[in-house]
Amino acid sequence: MTEPIIFLGAGPGDPELITVKGRRLLDGADVIVYAGSLVNPALLDGVTAEIHDSAGMDLDEIMAVVVDAARAGKKVVRLHTGDPAIYGAIREQMQRLDREGLDYEVVPGVSSALASAAALKAELTVPEVTQSVIFTRQAGRTPVPEAEALHKLAAIQGSMCIFLSVSMMKKVVGELRDGGYAGDTPVAVVEKATWPDERIVRGTLTDIAEKVAGSGIRKTAMILVGRALAGGTGAASKLYDAGFSHQYREKKR
Ligand code: SAH
Repeated sequence: MTEPIIFLGAGPGDPELITVKGRRLLDGADVIVYAGSLVNPALLDGVTAEIHDSAGMDLDEIMAVVVDAARAGKKVVRLHTGDPAIYGAIREQMQRLDREGLDYEVVPGVSSALASAAALKAELTVPEVTQSVIFTRQAGRTPVPEAEALHKLAAIQGSMCIFLSVSMMKKVVGELRDGGYAGDTPVAVVEKATWPDERIVRGTLTDIAEKVAGSGIRKTAMILVGRALAGGTGAASKLYDAGFSHQYREKKR
């Protein structure tokens, strides 16, 4: 009997922001393959597993380690930054495992998008401001389908979490402005959210590109955009409104 291979979300960086289940799986693993470029190595303190850093490995090499270990009856964890479902490239790995006839499971993690919102103390869904959040990226070496180009998504005017794009800040700002966000739309860039050296740069679409260039932030950063980031605007949520009943509470007259 082989153990299911676990695709595990490591969270954004702070070693306490992994799930209890994730912690248990890491501690019990025989082999861990982790994305060394983004996963905090502090998560691996005290583990007894054999550890491989996937940063210098291609897909064939990664899969060879994973498949051989699983076939040998070992407990294998493939550790991904944030949540594995977002830009985790897990699909191609799962397809290989399907072909090999090996079982796997996915254990979620805290995405850096949500860790960045927490760092900003922001609610991304403010009533009467926006009720939608878009996770996306600027097209780079990896293309983005034309229908979801940044300038088209900008027309929605919701909250946006833009991954993998801080090195193209000027282009991002240009597309967001072309798509209809006003120049005074709040933007924040969070570098290494929840790491000890986390940095936050706040501004508007008018000045953020210059501020980010001045900060020297070039990678491992989340761009958050939208009116929801402006404190003090918008209506209060109906959820805690005294005049609003729901499943757990009757409204007061
Ligand atoms: N699966 C990951 C995203 C992987 S793509 C997740 O759910 O968070 C890598 C991109 O994620 C980076 O380019 C950056 O935009 C973002 N990122 C990852 N860790 C981050 C962190 N600690 N702070 C800010 N952004 C981060």
